[in-house]
Amino acid sequence: METGYLRELRQSFSSGRTRDAAWRKSQLRAILRLLDENENQIFQALQRDLGKHPIEVYRDEIGVVKKSVTYALSCIDKWMAPKKNQLPLLFFPSRAEVRPEPLGIILIFVSWNFPITLALDPLVGAISAGNTVVIKPSELSPETSAFLARTIPAYLDRKAIKVIEGGTDIAENLLQQKWDKIFFTGSARVARIVMAAAVTHLTPVTLELGGKCPAIVDSLSATLDLKVAAKRLAAGKWGACCGQACIAIDYILVEQKFSSALIELLKKSVKRFYGENVKNLKNLSTIVNKHHFNRLRNLMEDPAVAASIVYGGEVDEENMIIQPTILLDPPLDAEIMQEEIFGPLLPIITLDNIKDSIEFINSRPKPLALYAFTKDDAFKKQIVAETSSGSLTFNDTVIQFVCDDLPFGGVGLSGFGRYHGKYSFDAFSHEKAVLHRSFYLELEARHPPWNDFKLRFLRFAYMFDYWGLILLYMGLKR
Ligand code: NAD
Repeated sequence: METGYLRELRQSFSSGRTRDAAWRKSQLRAILRLLDENENQIFQALQRDLGKHPIEVYRDEIGVVKKSVTYALSCIDKWMAPKKNQLPLLFFPSRAEVRPEPLGIILIFVSWNFPITLALDPLVGAISAGNTVVIKPSELSPETSAFLARTIPAYLDRKAIKVIEGGTDIAENLLQQKWDKIFFTGSARVARIVMAAAVTHLTPVTLELGGKCPAIVDSLSATLDLKVAAKRLAAGKWGACCGQACIAIDYILVEQKFSSALIELLKKSVKRFYGENVKNLKNLSTIVNKHHFNRLRNLMEDPAVAASIVYGGEVDEENMIIQPTILLDPPLDAEIMQEEIFGPLLPIITLDNIKDSIEFINSRPKPLALYAFTKDDAFKKQIVAETSSGSLTFNDTVIQFVCDDLPFGGVGLSGFGRYHGKYSFDAFSHEKAVLHRSFYLELEARHPPWNDFKLRFLRFAYMFDYWGLILLYMGLKR
């Protein structure tokens, strides 16, 4: 049985209102207004949920979404326009186009770590494509969840876009309904539940998951700008939500002979960005909750792992802070090297030869992001050709997320489907093939009664389309 809110969304969709370009643009502009007029409320919500610094919030959440909206507004007419397509000459006279159409009602599941971006960025795509939407924020970022539930109905079309708050029971209830697409950001564990539920109605899904994202640091790094590299590595580990990010560096691969120099550089960046004493750390987000705090503490306090800590390791339980921590060669079979870390612990794994990093990475599940710091063009080519990951970034970290023209999504266990920019529009659209045929020139060779000529004709016709007109002429004759 369809619930009241779904009936309302379906009516809004059926009315055709959301297909209108003017509606789509007005909703996108409303998102901009929502962000502009409530900046302080967003800062406060994310401070309470995750201890995020307002500048980090602007950089990773408000600014990212505003950029997506502005980009979508500048491209939406082009994205919506039907694309003319070539047809085989055999079908002359005819014409064809590919017409994007909205899917219908979209369910968006949001993870807690970037609770504004991961709710509103997919929403930008869903609205641009002309859909109605339900957003289910994470119960683990309650202040931001409440903010979205309060402001979205106040700014956007409340009959077409809804926020439903709640925990697992509400999420499971949502999954029992029939959706036209489920867009899920979260863990592989819950993704399996989502996919199992989607099977009932054969609902298409996009799964934006995580995993262990490696960073290769080439020992030819003598030729790299090491200070810049160290800053970017530190930013890629601790800079966004204190490592609680799907594209944060999970571990670094480096040649043994270069490891101590790299550790020294990383320590310098950490001290400069965040300070030293765990009680006085600045600019560092807090760990989201007790469960994750204890999980991270257990990862580094595992007796087999603790001895490998070369920097950090302090915790401030009262304030839910874990110091940026560097570990050198923890055992590869320890949990810290088996599970996604999703926090401020950074294992550095040493290799005899940096080229072995490719085999190391390929022997594990395909990561969402792979980073490599190198100036060696041959090595770069090898990494591109021989590894598979959602994205591959050379000489920087995490910035791939804010590039509108790059698809964002995983491969293998890091998920499937992609979004951002035009890819978001496509993720929430169906590309309908529309073929207009004339009543002229009926090709008799396609119809029985069959004869040898028709078989010969069809063999040629499928292989040599430029012969189409000649064949067409002959086909008409028989
Ligand atoms: P999660 O899987 O626990 O929760 C994600 C969403 O699913 C939340 O909205 C939650 O309410 C909902 N949910 C929880 N239990 C459910 C159930 N039984 N049935 C239906 N829905 C349920 O993930 P999380 O802890 O919020 O996020 C952490 C994970 O997300 C990490 O693995 C991280 O790498 C990944 N992540 C990926 C991206 C990306 O863009 N690829 C971004 C952020 C986080």
